[in-house]
Amino acid sequence: MSRTNGLTLPIPAPVARAAAPAAAASRAGSIITLDQVTKVYGANGTRVHALAGVSLSVERGEMVAIMGQSGCGKTTLLNCASGLDDVTSGSVSIAGQDIATLSDKARTTFRAHNMGFVFQTYNLLPVLSAVENVELPLVVSGVSPKEARQRAQAALERVGLRAQGEKRPAQLSGGQRQRVTIARSLVNNPEIVWADEPTGALDSRTADDIITLMETLNEDQGLTFVIVTHDAAVGARCHRIIHMVDGAIVREERLR
Ligand code: ADP
Repeated sequence: MSRTNGLTLPIPAPVARAAAPAAAASRAGSIITLDQVTKVYGANGTRVHALAGVSLSVERGEMVAIMGQSGCGKTTLLNCASGLDDVTSGSVSIAGQDIATLSDKARTTFRAHNMGFVFQTYNLLPVLSAVENVELPLVVSGVSPKEARQRAQAALERVGLRAQGEKRPAQLSGGQRQRVTIARSLVNNPEIVWADEPTGALDSRTADDIITLMETLNEDQGLTFVIVTHDAAVGARCHRIIHMVDGAIVREERLR
């Protein structure tokens, strides 16, 4: 297992999964279900109730934005829903699996097989080229170097960066770095991609390109996206916006 900036890199086993059908056709039941989830940080005098009984269901193939002011619990919700963090009470089920019942190791493997992660800060290793960053989770998990390279190049192609594979992150623009991060999140064919402020470090035009890429991946491959964002332009491109205040969902907007 390898950690960068607190992020556990996925350690996937090779999985062959047929391409998902188009989003509309694949909306078949919920893939993410949270039931009365609470999260309390700290102890005694310093307790912070970051999530106050959140229930949420996300459909397979849905693209959902989680919005709300800073400190309302968006990142905590994403971390708890994806199994990056433990809940204090309540339950989280992903693709029918109650993640609380998994050991740490099994949960890491489960995440790696089913989920990709995209963060504002890219979490790319500066000494590695783009293609090496993308293939890293596969190499760590024992996929042969040849296959890992092929899959990483295919993932870079999916995000429009095949020709940039040999460049290091410092030689790429912010938008290109975020594309590399998205390619890395896709390299193991996940069903769900979690994104925490994926456009937060980008100018509005580049942000628009990135959300368009996510939209295309959602529509063409039925990938489920859960996106924490403070950017109304990003929210407007999703199927549904979940609005949070003080650790609770206060409103949902269905856009399409
Ligand atoms: P958002 O993503 O909406 O900005 P967060 O989920 O990061 O909000 O934080 C929700 C609340 O939980 C905030 O009050 C924040 O200070 C607190 N919090 C977040 N992470 C921790 C932590 N590791 N320890 C203690 N408090 C935390």
